[in-house]
Amino acid sequence: MARTDILRLIAGFRKFRDKYFANEHPLYTRLTTGAGQAPKTLIIACSDSRVDPAIITSASPGELFVVRNVANLVPPYETGGRFHGVSAAIEFAVVNLAVENVIVLGHRQCGGIRALMINQATQPNGFVEQWVRIAQEARNRVLSKFSHESEDNICRHAELESIIESLHNLKTFPFVQAAIESRGLLVLGIYFDLELGQLCEYDETLGHFKNIEL
Ligand SMILES: [Zn+2]
Repeated sequence: MARTDILRLIAGFRKFRDKYFANEHPLYTRLTTGAGQAPKTLIIACSDSRVDPAIITSASPGELFVVRNVANLVPPYETGGRFHGVSAAIEFAVVNLAVENVIVLGHRQCGGIRALMINQATQPNGFVEQWVRIAQEARNRVLSKFSHESEDNICRHAELESIIESLHNLKTFPFVQAAIESRGLLVLGIYFDLELGQLCEYDETLGHFKNIEL
């Protein structure tokens, strides 16, 4: 069964190769020569298989610099500890690639946020449980306002609130703050409702999410 899955992926790669490598002026020739990649947007998205940023935005190779993790969380800036994969990706995108936009992309039915809110982490004291604690303050804010609502609604509120927390954490990185001030780096929070097929954007001035009209 697993081998069948791999064969399907290889067939998919064949299609990809035909699209991007077989034309007279293939995109990859441009992307692999000269300056190389120059994506304008960093997207911080969830690892969830339903929210691939390139698929849901119909992006081409070279357009998006993507970092994905459980629950699309941005940790606060800190120099302690040893391994900072998300922070390294943010630094590379903002400092080295000088992206113009950073998007935190949250989504409906997020298992990581459910683990945060309902304490249903698969492994007690495991990596997921520890990781999602980044959004502990978002959890507290949601429970203080919506604890009387259904589990599903509480999770939805937390999916949104944790995006706001990540936007806040993003701005604790000195090089992100510097890029906002010196060159107008745009930092956005977007929510993909995969039940309705809609996107919402966080309006910092109004303090809430609003639908993106298509
Ligand atoms: Zn998720």
